[in-house]
Amino acid sequence: MASDIKLAEAPPSYDGPGFQATSFDKIIGLARANSLWPLPFATSCCGIEFMATMAARYDIARFGSERISFSPRQADMLLVAGTIAKKMAPVVKQVYLQMAEPRWVIAIGACASSGGIFDTYSVLQGIDRIIPVDVYVPGCPPRPEQILEAVMQVQELAHNESLRRRNSDEYQKLLASYSIQ
Ligand code: SF4
Repeated sequence: MASDIKLAEAPPSYDGPGFQATSFDKIIGLARANSLWPLPFATSCCGIEFMATMAARYDIARFGSERISFSPRQADMLLVAGTIAKKMAPVVKQVYLQMAEPRWVIAIGACASSGGIFDTYSVLQGIDRIIPVDVYVPGCPPRPEQILEAVMQVQELAHNESLRRRNSDEYQKLLASYSIQ
């Protein structure tokens, strides 16, 4: 019995310059993910681990993050490393507010994540009480490899983030919940 299925014709060949179809989100995400400039907010021992992370042995330049920024306006990623006293909390928040969008936050170590061993009246029990945190790094202190892992996780977030996210109602609600707008 003759089959009435017809094979599709092969598409015409293309001899022009090479191209790749993608979305604007992906291109911007790729650029952002590979040029995340860190702003260290280091107050104590975990800050020393951050310094080790930035030294040649761990080569953070592999991830495009070797350019430390001490100006919030030129930073993409706030790395809070160390114990944050309640008196210091408004300063952390102010620095976060001065950063331009898109911005990411890493809480390095137990103190920044939850107050750590300092369960006391004068210490902030985690920076997520005042600003949104994207990645938490456990440890007292965490090793530089863990901090690099956190940077890679922020890269993942930056790479996959929609350009519309920062203007979304959901994100604005998140900021409003921290009294940040
Ligand atoms: Fe120091 Fe441990 Fe706190 Fe890090 S988590 S700042 S190492 S006490």
